[in-house]
Amino acid sequence: MSLPIINFADFLSADSEKKLAVANNIRQASETWGFFYLSNIGISQQDINMAFHQANAFFALPESEKQKIPWQSAESNCGYVAVKRETLDPTQKADLKEAFNLCTQKTDADPTNPAKNKWPATLPKFQPQVENFIEQCTELANRILEAMALSVGEDANFFTEAHSKEQNTFRMLHYPALPENYQTEDGENRAGAHTDYGSITLLFQDDVGGLEVKNKLGEWVQATPVPGAIVVNTGDLMQRWTNDVFMSNPHRVVQPELSKHKDRYSIAYFCTPDADYVVNTVATCIPEGEQSKYEPITTLNHMLERLGRTY
Ligand code: CA
Repeated sequence: MSLPIINFADFLSADSEKKLAVANNIRQASETWGFFYLSNIGISQQDINMAFHQANAFFALPESEKQKIPWQSAESNCGYVAVKRETLDPTQKADLKEAFNLCTQKTDADPTNPAKNKWPATLPKFQPQVENFIEQCTELANRILEAMALSVGEDANFFTEAHSKEQNTFRMLHYPALPENYQTEDGENRAGAHTDYGSITLLFQDDVGGLEVKNKLGEWVQATPVPGAIVVNTGDLMQRWTNDVFMSNPHRVVQPELSKHKDRYSIAYFCTPDADYVVNTVATCIPEGEQSKYEPITTLNHMLERLGRTY
């Protein structure tokens, strides 16, 4: 069994029957895997290539340049994260990756928000091009959240209303090529096994591969890059929100023998409901005569608790 590929073109059309069919496919995939490929997402390949081009340019900067805009706190969660700074699986070695986080919320929307983006001063096209790409990601994420809302029998705006402040995180990732003689230590991975914290994640990956997803039998299954498709997965908060109907499945990035001496790049867009939003179980996900498995929790409390375990 491999991850399902869902064609999103029908959801982006106006035909409500076709939309519902796509929503049902997404529900099935989210229940079975917590992961799926999505094709025909409405973002041009040219724009995706441009975003990867900028990621390349950023990570190619000298370490001293990148360190001028460092990641500083879980509260802001933006800036540059150096190689081995992060340990997604706390029982294992630090991750062989570096990352650059940007907050997607317009800063003028909430002056008290600690998240302030810092941009690489020596790459003049980086900010306008990446901001344009982020806007398209936000748009796409909202369409996917609409499909998920319909799939659990709610109004289309059920999940997007909770994301109205766009407090999402856009993340560029670089897994450096390992030197020819590099001996990977036991338990060392490009990204350790983890689940995502928020509602949903969109992942754009290059053709290097290495992403693996756990199936229900506990086996690691390769999520091989599919040209023209992104990977979408549901996170911990979505699992809690849906009373465990949608899965937040462990995944990791390994370094396959064939490609470990190649650089790998990916771009992730992590959706998170508004910090002060109180996540209450979706009513349609509670079986008749039963109670929700979860107490209500604010997004902020959920996220701080999860982020604190990674750094
Ligand atoms: Ca992840």
